[in-house]
Amino acid sequence: MFYHEKLQSVSQRIENAKQNSNFKENIKLVAVSKTVASAEILRLYKAGCIAFGENRVQSLKEKCEELYTLSIEWHFIGRLQTNKINQLIALRPALIHSCDSLELALEINKRLKIKNQKLDILLQINSAKEDTKAGVEPENAVQIYEKILNLCPNLNLKGVMSIGAHTDDVGAIQKSFETTREIYEQILPLGAKYCSMGMSGDFELAIKCGANIIRLGTILFK
Ligand SMILES: *Cc1c(COP(=O)(O)O)cnc(C)c1O
Repeated sequence: MFYHEKLQSVSQRIENAKQNSNFKENIKLVAVSKTVASAEILRLYKAGCIAFGENRVQSLKEKCEELYTLSIEWHFIGRLQTNKINQLIALRPALIHSCDSLELALEINKRLKIKNQKLDILLQINSAKEDTKAGVEPENAVQIYEKILNLCPNLNLKGVMSIGAHTDDVGAIQKSFETTREIYEQILPLGAKYCSMGMSGDFELAIKCGANIIRLGTILFK
């Protein structure tokens, strides 16, 4: 079957990249389904993929509802507007990758407290320092991470996420991943578990630099 083969080939590439990595982390694959409809998600799920990522709250909600009978682990990976927080919380995603400021963390925490609910979340870092990208500056990341830990008891802060530099310069992409990994290592003593980085075009490099969650869309669905 089509998706079986895709998954198999991606798994092989993940395994090879792991062999070339100094970190030898177990890698979690999140299939980014933002460009496809629920029918395609169902097909990939049947081929053995259980974690899916969406970048818009409304799409996540629709797909959650359409696929509610499946044991899908839903990840939220997009920019989160304050007015969508309650809607997202109600969907109980497995992990929010994209908390991009202390202010947003405080706001999510406030809503969670009212609902007596907790949520796993990652701090997004703008490692490539691109104006178009969300995330905290790498210089401030550890300090903001500690603040969220101290001020947001309803958030289970579990690590960091970033998007590789948007360039053909492999060295620059690698540097952005290394920046994120260095921050991840500084927060390991604070209980961090996940370093989410790497997409279809750069996941092998991300794994080499120490990613343990990769987010793949195009390579699986195109
Ligand atoms: C779309 C997206 C991905 C997947 O990108 P591909 O290049 O299609 O693999 C990963 N992470 C985020 C945050 C995205 O928005």
